[in-house]
Amino acid sequence: MHLVFLGPPGAGKGTQAEKVCARFGIAHISTGDMLRKEMREGTELGKQAKAVVEAGGLVSDDIIIGMVKNRLQEPDCQKGFLLDGFPRTIAQADALGSLTDIDMAVNIDVPEDVLVERISGRRMCPDCGAGYHVSLYDKDTCEKCGAKLYIRDDDKPETVRNRIAAYQQKTQPLIQYYSEKGLLQTVCGSLPMEQVQANILALLEKLQ
Ligand code: AMP
Repeated sequence: MHLVFLGPPGAGKGTQAEKVCARFGIAHISTGDMLRKEMREGTELGKQAKAVVEAGGLVSDDIIIGMVKNRLQEPDCQKGFLLDGFPRTIAQADALGSLTDIDMAVNIDVPEDVLVERISGRRMCPDCGAGYHVSLYDKDTCEKCGAKLYIRDDDKPETVRNRIAAYQQKTQPLIQYYSEKGLLQTVCGSLPMEQVQANILALLEKLQ
């Protein structure tokens, strides 16, 4: 299973991706999580990406493509993978197409007014990358590893607006891109989480 999740920030890509990967035993590749880890560890790549991520912009295609290329070579990707937050530009999608084939691109569609509300309630685990929403989980430590949850710097309202604008300008064209290749499936992401999950799983069962 070679999957891509498309959708604006706050659509629920990370939450749904975690569940899909657990269900099918495939690797969850979140370029956002990878960048946050690099930034936390203060690596050269993390330092290069920091200002752009914190402003809500997109990190350069070269950096991201290099990162994903290496990640796809790791052994856990042999059973399959789900790319969450990549590709985000046509150049990234072209590069991905030259690295591997894709079976399905799932577009999680959510209207803009819902996104801001969703993002403002988001909490993250700094250690394992798990994501939570205050409306569904009211503890301040991670259910999986016990670390104290935090609010992402780029979840602040002014940064969120930049991230949505970057999505609309650079990433939305990928909907047509994958549609033209006959790979696109769209699910309504404003339904309750469990319903979105069931709809995604129903699409993916067809690939088995
Ligand atoms: P995410 O966790 O997917 O929302 O990503 C957080 C931030 O990391 C984004 O707002 C971008 O600044 C950066 N980022 C993540 N994935 C990519 C990508 N594929 N291309 C460019 N920038 C990215």
